[in-house]
Amino acid sequence: MTGAHTQQDTESNVATEDGIDREKVQRATRMLLEAIGENPGKAPLAETWQRRVPETLETLTEGMRKQEKPTLRTFPAETDELVVKTGIPVYSLCEHHMLPYHGVAHIAYRPEGEVVGLSKLPRYVRWQARRLTTQEKLTRDIATGLDTELETTAVLVEVTASHLCEAMRGVETETQTTTRATAGEPTEDDRRQFRRQIDS
Ligand code: ZN
Repeated sequence: MTGAHTQQDTESNVATEDGIDREKVQRATRMLLEAIGENPGKAPLAETWQRRVPETLETLTEGMRKQEKPTLRTFPAETDELVVKTGIPVYSLCEHHMLPYHGVAHIAYRPEGEVVGLSKLPRYVRWQARRLTTQEKLTRDIATGLDTELETTAVLVEVTASHLCEAMRGVETETQTTTRATAGEPTEDDRRQFRRQIDS
């Protein structure tokens, strides 16, 4: 049992080092189409399993590959004021249903001598989101990831998203879920400032 698990893990890691196993995705997608009663040989569907799904999955799993991670070049900070970026778009895939969830992320961090270009934060969020994950885990990974990448005393992250697996399968109304995570040691004042900026 343990042995089988280890082998599976190794296999999937090998497949994601330089990209996905395209040939395997083609075969699997073809089988999925057959399994739901479609004909994978007919014109538009042939393109689906041969090209479109492998290409899409390649892009949407970039976050599993370290070499795709954006470089976070830093600059000397002029103050140690809290840096806040709100309304960062989030598009990810839930690992339970392999369906999208989407929404916005808000990020704050207190720099220790250096800051990162504000345009880098959306790129970092996009990279983190491009994998199968849960909203809770994504929120945590952004917080701890930025804490590792940047010199900070505190990172605060809030993500609000709608899950298509909920909206399309049952309730059919968009409900939103909010998740929060912190890394380092945010002060009460950091939390208050972050809240004010999100609500403004
Ligand atoms: Zn789901």
